[in-house]
Amino acid sequence: MTAPRARGARRPQSIREVVENGLCIGCGLCEALGPDQWRMVVTPQGRLRPAPCGTADPAVDAAILEACPGTVAEAEAEQGARVDPVWGAWRHMGEAWAGDADIRFRAATGGVLTALGVHLLTTGKADFILHCAADPDRPMRSRWVMSDTAEQVVARAGSRYGPSDTLAGLEAALARARPFAIIAKPCDAGAVRARAKADPRLDRWLVALLVMVCGGASDLGKSWQVLEEFGIEEDELSLFRYRGYGNPGRTRVETQDGRAFEKTYNQMWGDAAGWHIQTRCKLCPDAIGEAADIAAADIWPDGAPVGEDAGFNGVIVRTARGGALFDAAVAAGDLVGGREHGPRDYDHFQPHQVHKKRAMAARLRGLRAAAKPHYAHAGLRLEALDSGDRAEEAGARRRAEGGRFAERMPSRVAKRA
Ligand SMILES: Cc1cc2nc3c(=O)[nH]c(=O)nc-3n(C[C@H](O)[C@H](O)[C@H](O)COP(=O)(O)OP(=O)(O)OC[C@H]3O[C@@H](n4cnc5c(N)ncnc54)[C@H](O)[C@@H]3O)c2cc1C
Ligand code: SF4
Ligand code: SF4
Repeated sequence: MTAPRARGARRPQSIREVVENGLCIGCGLCEALGPDQWRMVVTPQGRLRPAPCGTADPAVDAAILEACPGTVAEAEAEQGARVDPVWGAWRHMGEAWAGDADIRFRAATGGVLTALGVHLLTTGKADFILHCAADPDRPMRSRWVMSDTAEQVVARAGSRYGPSDTLAGLEAALARARPFAIIAKPCDAGAVRARAKADPRLDRWLVALLVMVCGGASDLGKSWQVLEEFGIEEDELSLFRYRGYGNPGRTRVETQDGRAFEKTYNQMWGDAAGWHIQTRCKLCPDAIGEAADIAAADIWPDGAPVGEDAGFNGVIVRTARGGALFDAAVAAGDLVGGREHGPRDYDHFQPHQVHKKRAMAARLRGLRAAAKPHYAHAGLRLEALDSGDRAEEAGARRRAEGGRFAERMPSRVAKRA
């Protein structure tokens, strides 16, 4: 599908323009496709961004820009799928959780993504999973990993609410020339689908593309705030778990000298003003995983937990491949399926996503009015869902004109050794 331009829209023409206009989410694709040109670094604001690290190569940058979430966002409904105006293509929506009680307990919600990863590995459908996990040396930060065993996937369960650059591992995964799956954010999935148009190895080796429904990725400012509140330094940490060990579970911080601190989910996230959400997330046209085979979500009434429970995911199965995987995992006992859902249940579980989908056309209009670039989009129904909200449009324009979305390009760094 060719991404049509919204009227008057100008796509960023360079990686610098993506970053400087707040359209980079730090997915890592820059480093995967151009390791001699770009290296992912953490900025002083605690965001992962590409820094130049070698001689520029226009061909490499052109390939990156064809798939970068800052320049393109697309989804295509498969034939045979139902398409909901808000929630996109779906074949099955319903409750699910991991069949294994330990996975269900450790995982962010009910362990669906981890259980699917385990199922893929133990049945030999995939040889490894590309996803992300806490950096063992700096546990508040995340890094991309390839998990070769079920034990590794389980050890790496849980939501990481800071920046993640899973796609920095994409070339390493493809270089293995073995079947693999990806667990990542919705924007990463969009980039993978876009990249597949230029790289046939993805059709050959990628057996499943799994995502979490995503309310937005905080920069590290959110986590630094937590450390400040507890009076600890980042280099004292031995653990930073954002949630899990229950649903939603507590945020738990441990230090190397044996101290431990906790916050409930609502203490952590009760005040939206302190979330430190990145700009691309505020402009996100697909935080619900429309490019994925399966998206897993929380299913709390009105989008917020009322207490702890045993862990229940909602799953949105979008493709035939996702449906076959889901059914096989249930048949094997790796997943348990609960009651069926429909799109209107999701309106109730995720009112923030409904609002965002409806507001996005107006926010993009605001960017255009401010003469700022934005991604091209296709298949995401943004025009059809347009709320026509003038306050959203004016707000986006004001922020863009006032420089609130602007970011500095990181300075040049050395190539990764
Ligand atoms: C930043 C963020 C925002 C979220 N916002 C919402 C929301 O608004 N609504 C909602 O329903 N759910 C949201 N979630 C999803 C929710 O927290 C669960 O991840 C989801 O329900 C899947 O649960 P699970 O038990 O199947 O995951 P698990 O079995 O614990 O598996 C999680 C998997 O996701 C991978 N992962 C974790 N964090 C990241 C990350 N930051 N980037 C890439 N991969 C990652 C891990 O490597 C692991 O494989 C969000 C998650 C994140 C990370
Ligand atoms: S969003 Fe990804 S591909 Fe685009 S500039 Fe950022 S790191 Fe590179
Ligand atoms: S809100 Fe959108 S851009 Fe932000 S991390 Fe989630 S999927 Fe990516």
